[in-house]
Amino acid sequence: MSSAANNSPVSSIKSWVEKYSLVVLGVIISAGFLAVYHLLGFQPDAGTYIAPGVVVLFSLFAQNLINAHRDIRSRLERYSSKLEEMVRERTEDLIKSNEQLQEEISLRRKTEERLRASESRYRTIFENSGAATLISNENGRALLANTQLSTMTGFSLEELEARDSWTSILENSHQNRVLSWISNNKSSAESPRCFEAVIRCKDGQEKNVFITLASFQESKSVLVSLVDITELKRAEQRLFHQAFHDHLTDLPNRALFMELLNISLRRSRRSRDYLFAVLYMDIDRFKYINDSMGHLFGDRLLVSFAQTIKKCMRDSDTVARMGGDEFAVILDDIQDPSYIFTVMDRINAALKDPLKIEDHTIYVTVSTGIVADCRIYDNPEDIVRDADAAMYGAKDAGRACFKVFESRMHQRFKRTLEMETAMRKALENGEFVLHYQPIISLQGGKVATFEALVRWERPGMGLIHPAEFIPVAEETGLIMPLGRWVLSQACKQMSIWQKTYPELSDCSVSVNLSGRQFNDPELENHIMHVLETSGLSPEHLKLEITENEVMHSPEHAIELLTRIRKAGIKIMIDDFGTGYSSLSYLHRFPIDILKVDRKFVGRLDSINSPSERKIVENIFSLAHGLNLEVVAEGVERSSQNDFLAGLNCRFVQGFLYYRPMPPEMVQPDFLERISK
Ligand code: C2E
Ligand code: MG
Ligand code: MG
Repeated sequence: MSSAANNSPVSSIKSWVEKYSLVVLGVIISAGFLAVYHLLGFQPDAGTYIAPGVVVLFSLFAQNLINAHRDIRSRLERYSSKLEEMVRERTEDLIKSNEQLQEEISLRRKTEERLRASESRYRTIFENSGAATLISNENGRALLANTQLSTMTGFSLEELEARDSWTSILENSHQNRVLSWISNNKSSAESPRCFEAVIRCKDGQEKNVFITLASFQESKSVLVSLVDITELKRAEQRLFHQAFHDHLTDLPNRALFMELLNISLRRSRRSRDYLFAVLYMDIDRFKYINDSMGHLFGDRLLVSFAQTIKKCMRDSDTVARMGGDEFAVILDDIQDPSYIFTVMDRINAALKDPLKIEDHTIYVTVSTGIVADCRIYDNPEDIVRDADAAMYGAKDAGRACFKVFESRMHQRFKRTLEMETAMRKALENGEFVLHYQPIISLQGGKVATFEALVRWERPGMGLIHPAEFIPVAEETGLIMPLGRWVLSQACKQMSIWQKTYPELSDCSVSVNLSGRQFNDPELENHIMHVLETSGLSPEHLKLEITENEVMHSPEHAIELLTRIRKAGIKIMIDDFGTGYSSLSYLHRFPIDILKVDRKFVGRLDSINSPSERKIVENIFSLAHGLNLEVVAEGVERSSQNDFLAGLNCRFVQGFLYYRPMPPEMVQPDFLERISK
């Protein structure tokens, strides 16, 4: 606007007037003076012109002065307004920056507060994280530690700081590992590293710790936290020990034994000179001891046996409990196979002395199977299988001995296994049948008893006799279900016969019991249950047991037999004379009948008969003296029958009279024949 005003003709005139008015005025005055002078007719001289000249000059000079003054003033005014402008701008800037500063200060204050809160939070976490925690620089020097660390290790922060590296509290083997991670830790993004280590505390105690190392962002320091896992480690070790050791004897268990055997086997493949042998042992008649003396006693016997066997071995040998009364040994790195026999001699010598358990002293024997050279085997299972087979060979050979494995034992083992499988199926399919062999009363010639004898009608193989499968049934435990079936079937059959044929109303049935059945705690209940369901009265049931069964655990036998007899059932000692019962012992047993073994009867008319006759005579006089009945089994010839009749024998059984027969044979015509 001002420039428009400046450019307007008025302002141009005004500006022109301001710039030149004084000069114009001077010129006008001078010109006026000269005009007046001329008009008045004065003669001009030099002075006449000088005065107007001076005026003009003066007006010029004054005009210039005024113009200069004006110029200066306007310039000053311009400068001043510019200055004002600048001052205003500056002031505004200052105000602005002041406001910014205020904002920044308040922001910083807030940040500081947040930082303080965060630091206090982290300090609380650091102190109360539950782990012993420290901050370490990259050289392993402790910079900060929480109280838990002092509690755990016993060292104060000052004591840790005084050390070149806090890692010196770690066990030597762990120090380098941890230190090298700390010093090489450059990347802050690296994930925390975890170690298990052992620390040595101030009091010398060692503790297992779990160390976690984590790096700080943009710093070479490392956060170290230690968690005490000593108890956890102990529990883990206990669990590991329990998993691989037998809780009773504390010996390695089967799992560990197999693992160690595998190691030995692998070693033998690497080194041709490395020889090792395996012994597989089973305590003879342990079951009888266990059943008669109680399981606690049995347990103590196992412990005592384990200790005795261990003493016979070197430290490098492994003695393991494989389960039950079975133990196995690895004779490690034997220089000479004869060492095996040295060990067997040691075992025999050690077991010559009785084991002392509680107030009892008990003689223990063991059957041992040996695999003398294990290098030829592919896997540990086969070694154990063959040592086990050899152990069964030792049992068959009469126990209390050892047998070295031969390949035919494996065949036997396989046969047993096949037989067991087939028998299980046979039981399910009802392939077992009972045949009955009459026991004849010599007074009147009538059937007094039918002995139930089991047979197996094996499809495609005909009738199989008990001698072939009863030993396997006993070995495998199948005798339990089989024996129960025999007892119940025999009682049922006898009850039916009694009801069908009045001439058999006084007749009894006799059932053979094996040793395992005899030790079955449920036997008594089962017998009573069978009598009840079949309707047979107890007087018509006889149980046949061998002398060996009663002699193994006499106390148990006496107790059980007394109870059974009280119920009215008769007890027979089968195969009498073949076992090892002492005759003097016999009177203590609650028995009714002795069954003289057919071996004696068979020899009655042989060349040696005088001595055999003497034995049989003695058996009869002893039995009669003890008020026992006698049955002579295996009577095949009339000469034998006559001799026995002469001894007042009242009952006989044998092919001379009848062979065992299927129940269908007991028909009216058969009964007619026997009653004649
Ligand atoms: P054991 O109890 O002594 O049975 C008598 C065995 O002698 C029977 O053989 C019978 O056939 C046979 N025998 C009978 N009279 C004569 C004879 O005049 N001459 C000859 N040479 N032998 C005769 P079997 O039936 O083969 O039984 C053999 C053994 O098997 C039995 O001997 C018994 O110990 C056992 N046994 C049979 N059945 C059972 C059963 O159901 N349970 C149990 N635990 N064992 C049984
Ligand atoms: Mg018998
Ligand atoms: Mg017999």
